[in-house]
Amino acid sequence: MVFLLSLDPETMLIMIVVSAFLQAGILVALDLVANQYKGIFLYMLASILYALGMGVGLLPITVELGILQFLGNCFVITSRVIIAIAICQFLGRRNNPTFWGLIVATLIFTQYNYIFVNNSYTARNIWLIVVNVIIYGTLIKSILQSKTNGFLLTSCLIITISGVEILFSLTRGLLLLDGQSRSAIDVSLANNFSWLVLFFIDFLRNSFFVLMVSQRMYSELKEFSEIDFLTQILNRGALTSRIETNLKNPTIYPISLILLDIDYFKKINDTYGHDVGDIVLKFVISELQAHLHSRDIIGRWGGEEFLIFLPHCSAAAVRDRAELLRHTVENIGIPYSTKTDDQLHCTVSLGVVTTAHPKVTLDDLLKSADIALYQAKEEGRNRVKYSTFEQ
Ligand code: GH3
Ligand code: MG
Ligand code: MG
Repeated sequence: MVFLLSLDPETMLIMIVVSAFLQAGILVALDLVANQYKGIFLYMLASILYALGMGVGLLPITVELGILQFLGNCFVITSRVIIAIAICQFLGRRNNPTFWGLIVATLIFTQYNYIFVNNSYTARNIWLIVVNVIIYGTLIKSILQSKTNGFLLTSCLIITISGVEILFSLTRGLLLLDGQSRSAIDVSLANNFSWLVLFFIDFLRNSFFVLMVSQRMYSELKEFSEIDFLTQILNRGALTSRIETNLKNPTIYPISLILLDIDYFKKINDTYGHDVGDIVLKFVISELQAHLHSRDIIGRWGGEEFLIFLPHCSAAAVRDRAELLRHTVENIGIPYSTKTDDQLHCTVSLGVVTTAHPKVTLDDLLKSADIALYQAKEEGRNRVKYSTFEQ
């Protein structure tokens, strides 16, 4: 308490204002790097508005300065509204303009009333707090309702800091009731506590937002680098690393691996064209996926060859699974053009390997699966050949 009261509110306000301007600069840079996302530029504008609004608090209150005081408070809370809108935009959520308009209108009305009609520092600040709580409550609700896959951690951080902001606002409200503060630069428990805490809250919220943008960029880039563009399943690199990670887990054995290749695919390309070949690839993959378990891993090994990793799958179990996949592809009719009702048919050959030895490597398994697949092709295609890997 004594420490708090020994602080100088004016200096703290200056730090808040300067820090808000600097953070706006960082957001400009972030907007240049991540301009594929909405909301960053708006967040930056909010930071500038906030700096201007808090800057007004540094001016001594006189009757002539009433209008500035009014604008300052409006700027500060409007900047909060804009931050909430910006984060919602970033999350791809629709904003409700009527709701936000009502919030700003309430703010303008109460600030006008408690500055020009009935001058009361406490009353106008209590209204600022009420509006602040509504804004942050709405923001928390919006984030909770958003799909934040890939940037869950940083979304939780923003939710936490918004919760802290609500608690802070309520505490400031309680402290203001002592009636010791007549302006933002008066030394009082309410002011000194508020400016100190606000400095950290603003810093953290802005940092969390920057982190959230970075985490989203990283997760989207990672996904992009792992997914095969045409078939939208894992590419060879990602598939290899996922399988290798799984092989280290001794609890998933016995495991099976299926190497699956579309038969006479070159002929499909030569007869119908490459575009139709692409349609067939996508169609076959979606059919295969429909018959896999959520724990199975499928990826494109190359061209028209796919690899399926089946944990907890014994030699007996994989016979049914592989035969089902072969049978499914054999029976699908693929609509390949809008100009005709004709459907295309194709078949697949599968090389399967099963092992119960946790020390096996992916290379070992691939060699066995490859030999089995070769056999299936040699024996006439549209069939499954099995092998087991024993050490
Ligand atoms: P097999 O039954 O022995 O497997 O014969 P195949 O014709 O399926 O095998 P081959 O290896 O001779 O030909 C594979 C063809 O797959 C050649 C290649 O142009 C084609 N291919 C590879 N990737 C793609 C792709 O992304 N799209 C299309 N349309 N064709 C592809
Ligand atoms: Mg083939
Ligand atoms: Mg092939």
